[in-house]
Amino acid sequence: MEKRRAIYPGSFDPVTYGHLDIIKRALCLFDEVIVAVAANAEKTPLFSVDVRVRFLQRAVKDLRGVRVEPIQGLTVKYAVKMKARTLIRGLRATSDFDYEFQMALTNRQLSRQVDTVFLMPSESYFYISSRLIKEIASSGGRVDGYVPLFVAREIEKILQL
Ligand code: ADP
Repeated sequence: MEKRRAIYPGSFDPVTYGHLDIIKRALCLFDEVIVAVAANAEKTPLFSVDVRVRFLQRAVKDLRGVRVEPIQGLTVKYAVKMKARTLIRGLRATSDFDYEFQMALTNRQLSRQVDTVFLMPSESYFYISSRLIKEIASSGGRVDGYVPLFVAREIEKILQL
């Protein structure tokens, strides 16, 4: 039987416990999850794609069935190429909904073979975003509770805490 494969696309600048929560949930539904780190999603990321990929690889090293890949261009095209019929997206507090809904419908227009599945994180991670973590760290706050420890140290280093 063919493997059920899903793509989880995003910027992951940097990976948070919210992202990891979604990856673990996706692994309960799919045989393989490819975390696709978008090179072009954000114009001025804090970390390069290579570094974001490395952080993710380290964060998921104990999980079976996860691969991390950098991607360029349209996510649906990548999904078709990889023979994945599903895109995974995380839904946080209501703020994500409008944008995610618009993007899912657009992606469906781009490829009818690919559908989007939304997963909700644990309540503890409902408000975490990469952007918020960068704001906290740049204001001198600790981010240990939101990202893996090695990521927290790197953020602090870069933001010169
Ligand atoms: P984007 O692709 O918009 O740049 P991110 O890289 O921040 O977004 O996140 C990738 C995906 O993970 C998105 O679907 C986003 O909604 C989801 N996500 C981010 N943080 C969380 C979280 N704390 N809980 C659940 N989903 C999340």
